[in-house]
Amino acid sequence: MQKKYQALHGTRDILPPESSLWQYIEAKVREVMRIYNYREIRFPIFEHTELFQRGIGESTDIVTKEMYTFKDLGGRSLTLRPEGTAPVVRAYIQHSLAKKAPVNKLYYLGPMFRQERPQKGRMRQFHQFAAELLGTLDPAADVEMIDLNLEVYRRLGLKNLKLYLNSVGCPKCRPQHRQKLLAFAKDKLPELCSDCNLRYTRNPLRMFDCKVETCQIILKEAPVMLDSLCHECREHFERVKQNLEYLEIDFELDDHMVRGLDYYTKTAFEIRSEELGAQDSLSGGGRYDLLVSDLGGEETPAIGFAAGTDRLIVAIESQKISYPSDEKIDIFIAPVGEEAKKTAMKLLFSLRRKGHSCEIDYLDRSLKAQMREANRLGAKKVIIVGERELEEGVYEVKDMQTGEQVRMPQAELKV
Ligand SMILES: [Zn+2]
Ligand SMILES: [Zn+2]
Repeated sequence: MQKKYQALHGTRDILPPESSLWQYIEAKVREVMRIYNYREIRFPIFEHTELFQRGIGESTDIVTKEMYTFKDLGGRSLTLRPEGTAPVVRAYIQHSLAKKAPVNKLYYLGPMFRQERPQKGRMRQFHQFAAELLGTLDPAADVEMIDLNLEVYRRLGLKNLKLYLNSVGCPKCRPQHRQKLLAFAKDKLPELCSDCNLRYTRNPLRMFDCKVETCQIILKEAPVMLDSLCHECREHFERVKQNLEYLEIDFELDDHMVRGLDYYTKTAFEIRSEELGAQDSLSGGGRYDLLVSDLGGEETPAIGFAAGTDRLIVAIESQKISYPSDEKIDIFIAPVGEEAKKTAMKLLFSLRRKGHSCEIDYLDRSLKAQMREANRLGAKKVIIVGERELEEGVYEVKDMQTGEQVRMPQAELKV
């Protein structure tokens, strides 16, 4: 039978026990962020549409095809956040965070929304953890961001990861590359898809995002940004690479990687997992030295990364990485009879106050059925509270691992 209401296509429920994996990942993220001295920022789920149009770029796939945009009752155009960097920069400017600290290190985790074609590890409500470092152009900050991202994966025990690196230049060197790219693509336009034809006029760099195979084959031969970098961008890129080599962090160059957002400058990186196939990108990031001034703040160099949690889950499951599950309880209390239930409830509440995870029977089941339930819940101990035990002022305590059962005076109960 078809159930009347279903979660929307591209959204899903995260049920136990899977939710304990999510909690585990989130705890690891927070642990690593603390170690690297990043502080949490929480910003709204929706913002003015203009913030994303301006921040992400009018010609990006996200802005042209994927945003959940709606009008509220006041007629304002609002958008569910498709990413977090633009809102963080908005908050950074709004609260003058630059005045509070010369360098701001922020992180966040939560859902983002994009209307994409759903597939494994790609949802319309998807989840990210991410960090932003604002206020320095130091190449060491680029390396920290990469290492921070990798450290989360290291601590989760993820294997077979690859780091890819590129530089997407700056406004000084991009026009030169743009000219080369336009010249290259000019006589290939009839072979390129309609989207790429549009990109050609609006923002040719975005052609590298194209998922159409014929476009990808043509663009393999296209001139790359790395060959057009200005002195400053080249110097910066060299120092990032040297630092990575010095720190023994393996990487490969991917001179076709442009990332799906317009605001990136200089360093761009991606971490990919071999298990994810075509959807192999686990996370990515890069510099966005112009975004703060683009959104109305002082010119502020910055770098960040964002990682997909849904895809991380796919990778963790395919690598069969174990994680602690909180499914088991400490104590199951099994009352037998109406009077016993009252005493049992009192005991239940006092044990919970002491911090034991406890459960009791709510279905008035027989002792035998209650013991089965205790087993199903993985209880370490069962405390049996019966009429006779009450009269004698004792409990029966059964150790579920050893099977040993002892009588204990109520006042001396030790669990
Ligand atoms: Zn440059
Ligand atoms: Zn194309």
